[in-house]
Amino acid sequence: MKEVKSPKRPLIYYYGIVLLVVFLFNLVVTPFLAQSQVVEVDYGTFMQMIEDEEIGQVQVTDSEILFTDKDETTVYKTGVMDDPNLTERLYASGATFTKEIEQTSSTFLNLLLSFGVPILIFIVIGQYLNRRLTNQAGGKNALQFGSMGKSNAKVYVQSTEGIHFSDVAGEDEAKESLAEIVDYLHDPDKYTEVGASIPKGLLLVGPPGTGKTMLAKAVAGEANVPFFSISGSEFVEMFVGMGASKVRDLFKQAKEKAPCIVFIDEIDAIGKKRDAQLSSNDEREQTLNQLLTEMDGFEGNNGVIILAATNRPESLDPALTRPGRFDRRVPVELPDLKGREEILKVHAKKIKLADDVDFHTVARMASGTSGAELANIVNEAALRAVRDNRKLVTQADLEESIEVVIAGYQKKNAIMSDAEKKVVSYHEIGHALVAAMQTDSAPVQKITIIPRTSGALGYTMQVEQNDKCLLTKEELESKIATYTGGRAAEEIVFGQITTGASNDIEQATKLARAMITRYGMNEDFDMVAMETVTNQYLGGDTSLACSAETQKEIDKKVVALVKEQHEKAKQILRENREALDRLAQYLYEKETITGEEFMDILRGGAAQ
Ligand code: ADP
Ligand code: ZN
Repeated sequence: MKEVKSPKRPLIYYYGIVLLVVFLFNLVVTPFLAQSQVVEVDYGTFMQMIEDEEIGQVQVTDSEILFTDKDETTVYKTGVMDDPNLTERLYASGATFTKEIEQTSSTFLNLLLSFGVPILIFIVIGQYLNRRLTNQAGGKNALQFGSMGKSNAKVYVQSTEGIHFSDVAGEDEAKESLAEIVDYLHDPDKYTEVGASIPKGLLLVGPPGTGKTMLAKAVAGEANVPFFSISGSEFVEMFVGMGASKVRDLFKQAKEKAPCIVFIDEIDAIGKKRDAQLSSNDEREQTLNQLLTEMDGFEGNNGVIILAATNRPESLDPALTRPGRFDRRVPVELPDLKGREEILKVHAKKIKLADDVDFHTVARMASGTSGAELANIVNEAALRAVRDNRKLVTQADLEESIEVVIAGYQKKNAIMSDAEKKVVSYHEIGHALVAAMQTDSAPVQKITIIPRTSGALGYTMQVEQNDKCLLTKEELESKIATYTGGRAAEEIVFGQITTGASNDIEQATKLARAMITRYGMNEDFDMVAMETVTNQYLGGDTSLACSAETQKEIDKKVVALVKEQHEKAKQILRENREALDRLAQYLYEKETITGEEFMDILRGGAAQ
């Protein structure tokens, strides 16, 4: 978040500069100028002037003699000589003796020089600094800067950079929900007339990187109202008591600027359930209470709409989500196939594309990615084109960058021994072949044995033809079989097992466990939930809700289920041993194999 602070510092800055300039000027310039007013003459001229009675004032010191002419317009200076009768002769000439002679003749000029010039310099510098500061604040925040400068309060206004709904691809449901808010901000009277009150707060919930912040900005952008933004974690980071006052501050300003949007990111940082635990955080609770008070404090329809974002809605305090506060919940989910394609297109507007780019395929390959990851994929592709000195981004760039984003960069000089390469080829073909042989399994898109920086030695990219919402028990079982297919191939071909299957094992276990504890896919447990998901959007952690004996049972059933599928995979591979060898050999030679090539070879085609 960017904060625009009132320009307090520049003012002090100005005073400092005035003092400094005056001081320096007097120190260096004035004496120099003054000096130049004194005319230095030789002793002879001095004696001549005494004779001619032209001396006005005179001052004799140990080292020099200063004197003026009769009109006292010019100051002269000369050295001291051994001249015993000097005083008498001076007296006779009518000169007046003085203790100090003004070294400059014109006091007006002196004044002008020592004050006028520094003031002039100051004005010039001041003007310059002023312009620089306004320019800095210009552009993004120019509009707010002028008016904010006068108040001392911290300001949370952030420019929305002209983001509109059209910039947020997919997420149609969320946009629909928010469009009503925009409509309200445009024309509040329409709502007050009927007596409808718009929700005070909306909660955007969904996994990270799905565009929650973007949507909030888009609401402000569409309605053309100020956008106040702060992150929940900022409240709690601060000194004791600061959180609550910052909330007060924020709402005070928001009310002044209404209609406007207040956006609180990561609201779970302050809005966690309040409990009586020892570790409870007073500061956080005070901040939360202040937030609740503020939300109750203003009546509906006053034009301040609060949007908050979180990826752990289940941890929020119920007081926050009750009606009258954040009473509307807007899910912002991971994009589906169509959404991914649209997001890719939105971000691809910024880059130059070759003719062969097919976003549908890219979107299909990038299943499970978030909007932020898709944006990253497009950018990685552009970077790859630049690295290769090309002007256009190709389909290959995009496909490679999916793998970069998912699995890391290719390890260019990773050393894999020949034997290892063979094992990895069989392992990956094992996955793909098991997947292909089970009719319910999705076909493969691509298999590669080029090591990645993430540590993967190779992988099989499966592609769902279209996003499925429901999965049958059989489909889930085939998935488990596919996960075990890699290890199964190693066992059958080499009679040995390697560490290469650790990720497969993790995935298979997770799926098997979910089938038994959450999806009710085990006859013995029927439709009883043994586990609940506590963290839907962040990895999906679960917590057990059953007795110790049942836990034992669950573990046994998970093992049995995975074992059964592992056997099934081995069976499939044994039956297709000849295809397995052919495919593995091909992959070993080419290192990368596409889905089409795979199917050709599998069907006995003669891909060379
Ligand atoms: P969140 O707040 O949900 O974590 P952000 O709104 O900060 O996510 O999104 C991060 C970035 O991801 C955005 O700046 C944008 O480039 C990209 N992005 C995410 N979702 C979308 C989308 N639906 N359409 C276009 N870009 C998106
Ligand atoms: Zn594997």
